[in-house]
This record gives sequence, structure tokens and C-alpha cells, in this order.
Amino acid sequence: MPSRDFVDKKNEPLSALAERIRFFGEIRAGFIFRPDASRRAARPESPRVEDVRSDYGTNASGPEAAGPAVESGLDLPRSDRTLEDIAAEVRTCRKCALAAGRTLAVPGEGSPKSPLLFIGEGPGHDEDIQGRPFVGRAGQLLTKIIVAMGYARSEVYIANVVKCRPPENRVPHREEAEVCAPFLLEQIAVLRPRVIVALGKTAVDFFVPNVKAMGPVRGNFQEWHGLLVMPTFHPSYLIRNEGNKEIKRMVWNDMQKVMAFLRGD
Ligand code: URA
Repeated sequence: MPSRDFVDKKNEPLSALAERIRFFGEIRAGFIFRPDASRRAARPESPRVEDVRSDYGTNASGPEAAGPAVESGLDLPRSDRTLEDIAAEVRTCRKCALAAGRTLAVPGEGSPKSPLLFIGEGPGHDEDIQGRPFVGRAGQLLTKIIVAMGYARSEVYIANVVKCRPPENRVPHREEAEVCAPFLLEQIAVLRPRVIVALGKTAVDFFVPNVKAMGPVRGNFQEWHGLLVMPTFHPSYLIRNEGNKEIKRMVWNDMQKVMAFLRGD
């Protein structure tokens, strides 16, 4: 277990940044060891839970719904900052080239008490304009999923691997994700959620080293520093495959496993 605490990162010199990146290597931020990531392509209302549940499949629990084998309990060092402290730093960050192209940085939002953290790839067009995560089409879908799980959107926490929009919504470069990683790691250290839902390959790459594709990991809890990470498809993938009931069913099954774990089943 790493011994180093998070420190004051304002005006951090490059040597300190290098030290932090070494630290993240030590705690196995998955993507640190990966050569590259692959590609992807998109105002939440208050949908009714029943509508969304029927839209997202049944409450069926198949063999995939087996409970996790590990207990939660984050073993990352604690940070004495708040999520708002981190957000303030994100909003003024200029540590990588993505800062030059952004309208607003998107730190993340939600309840600081949430047991559940959703992590996407990075802001898209709508998020960049509003400075809020998952507010475009993919965000509306994510909100529906959250509501179907029995939570209000404001009761969970939502963040991204990178906090600034990559040009043309391209997949963030590995260097960009690495430079941004301290923010997400510290958000996790402050929030100390019980479960993380990793939405899509870029988010999964953050936690699980050497994943070649979503297939083998999707729907299977991964242990990461004492807490559970559930890899599932990104809402944009669902949108691109609209009408594919099997993909919807898989995502809903994954979310049911998360709900079962949170209930203590
Ligand atoms: N896609 C993401 O990965 N994150 C967002 O915030 C919006 C779309």
C-alpha cells in the first residue's frame, strides 16, 4: 500500500508532477502501463423509474448476476481537500494541451456522500459549454440509468478521466489522461465510494491494466485498491447501437450487480 499522502498541488513544479505520476504507477492506475487507448464517437429531465426500468430490460438475474467476491474499503491515501477544492483547481488547470481548446473544464458533480461513482471518458460538446459532466445525449441516457437504479442524479457522483474536452471528441491521448489522473485519483480518495462504474474503454483503462477490449471485463467486478469497479458500456455506445436490446440488457444486468452489492445482497 502506498505510504504517500496527497499534498498541496497548487503551483506544483514539474519534479513534483513526475513524483505523482510515479506514485500513480505504484498504486496501479491501469492506463499507466498501457500503450494506448482506442476510439469512440455524445437537460437531464426526471424520467419515471418504471418507464426506465422497462426500457432497460427486466429485473432478471442470470448467471452473470453473481455477487462480488471482495469487500469494499478503499486503501488509497486520504486527502484533506474537498471535492470543491479539487474542482477549483481543475477549472484553472493548464497542465496539458486540452486546456487550450476548452470552453469550460468539467471537474465532476454530485453528492460528496455518494457510495456510487460513475466515470466516463471526457467532456463532449455540451459538457464543455456547461462545465458539467454528462449533460448531452449520453448524459440523458446515463441519468435514466441512474434513476432506474433508484437514485436521483444528484445523489451519485459523476466524473470523467479527463476534465477538458478533446478536439472532435477524440479519445484522450495517454499523456493527457496521465496528466489529468491526479484529479480523478484524488476525487476518489476524497469521495471514498463503495463502487465505481467505469463507463467505456477509456474509464476501464484507468483501473484495469492491459485490457484489450471491453468484452472480457464488462459486467465483472474488478477489485481496485479495496473497492469494486464495474466495467460497463459507455452510454454513447448504447446510443450508437440504439435498438440493440441485448446491449441494453447487458448494461442493466451490470447495474443490477452494482445495486445488489450496495444493498448488501
Ligand atoms: N461522455 C463522457 O465520457 N463524459 C461526459 O461527461 C459526456 C459524454
